[in-house]
Amino acid sequence: MTTAPEAAHFRFFELEVLRTRRLGHSFLRVTFGVTSPAGFRSGGFDQSLSLFLPPDGREHTVLPSTDEDTWFGAWRGMPDEERPVMRSYTVREQRRTPEGADEVDIDFVLHGDASPASRWAGRAATGRRILAIGPAVAENKSVRFQPPATADAIWMYADETALPAAAAILERLPSGTAVRAWFEVPHEDDRLALSTPARADITWIVRGAAIGPERTERVLSALRSAEPGAAEAPYVWLAGEAGTVRATRRHFVQERSVDRRSVRFTGYWRLGASEEQLLAEAYAGQSPSEEPTSEL
Ligand SMILES: Cc1cc2nc3c(=O)[nH]c(=O)nc-3n(C[C@H](O)[C@H](O)[C@H](O)COP(=O)(O)OP(=O)(O)OC[C@H]3O[C@@H](n4cnc5c(N)ncnc54)[C@H](O)[C@@H]3O)c2cc1C
Repeated sequence: MTTAPEAAHFRFFELEVLRTRRLGHSFLRVTFGVTSPAGFRSGGFDQSLSLFLPPDGREHTVLPSTDEDTWFGAWRGMPDEERPVMRSYTVREQRRTPEGADEVDIDFVLHGDASPASRWAGRAATGRRILAIGPAVAENKSVRFQPPATADAIWMYADETALPAAAAILERLPSGTAVRAWFEVPHEDDRLALSTPARADITWIVRGAAIGPERTERVLSALRSAEPGAAEAPYVWLAGEAGTVRATRRHFVQERSVDRRSVRFTGYWRLGASEEQLLAEAYAGQSPSEEPTSEL
């Protein structure tokens, strides 16, 4: 049997803002219609995609090329003031409407107007069109949550940027799955209502103004002060700020003796670095994280 070429797993889609809804202090849900082409196929769980958001003053995203072989050079070659920013986000949910249209929810963390994606989301208006490199097949490498069949428990840590992914994972787990989760959010009312058929024990860590090492310490102390529950072969999924994620990985591998091959960890952002900087490091082979923060 021949394997489909990797490139066929992802393609450019045009998304149009249909509506927005505030979910909590820090979260804004933007619901997009997939206007073209047909065939957006989220694999669920922590499915991510790359969004291209227009620069200030432009209503819609325009790229000189969306051809698989030439888009990257063409995008990089655009003048700075015209080049859309590329950012990684999570498909919180994909739905098919009764009319047969595809809708996609993306939950943006609003972390200030100085950052392009956060600023764009805060001003997102119905009818705005953006481009995305998204999944064209449900089984694709941007679904990172891949517990082995032998896992007897799921342990999770997510900060607010990874809460959409964690929420989507929880919804899809088989009924009765033993889950121990720690979710870290900036504000009390970011503790979103989550639904799951799993047997999930969730601890919320509300960090307030803590940043950097103070924040990481607070997370570690929450992890240390709770027993995750009896498990012989836990699968651990960690995502959020890169420094904190690395510290939580060390905790599970060194302090709780989890097999490092059973730990899936991803830096979703890094304190003090924009996604351009992280991508530049990844292309230069300098990324300290397990993988680049974006797919292409
Ligand atoms: C696979 C994957 C899935 C992701 N899914 C989501 C998602 O569903 N929702 C979501 O909101 N984010 C998600 N992220 C994180 C998001 O891509 C980053 O937060 C991104 O940096 C936001 O872009 P920006 O233009 O707002 O900020 P940037 O221009 O990239 O960064 C500017 C500054 O803001 C800081 N910064 C970035 N993000 C935050 C934050 N959340 N809080 C405080 N400071 C920040 C950076 O350290 C930098 O100093 C995901 C990332 C990955 C890799």
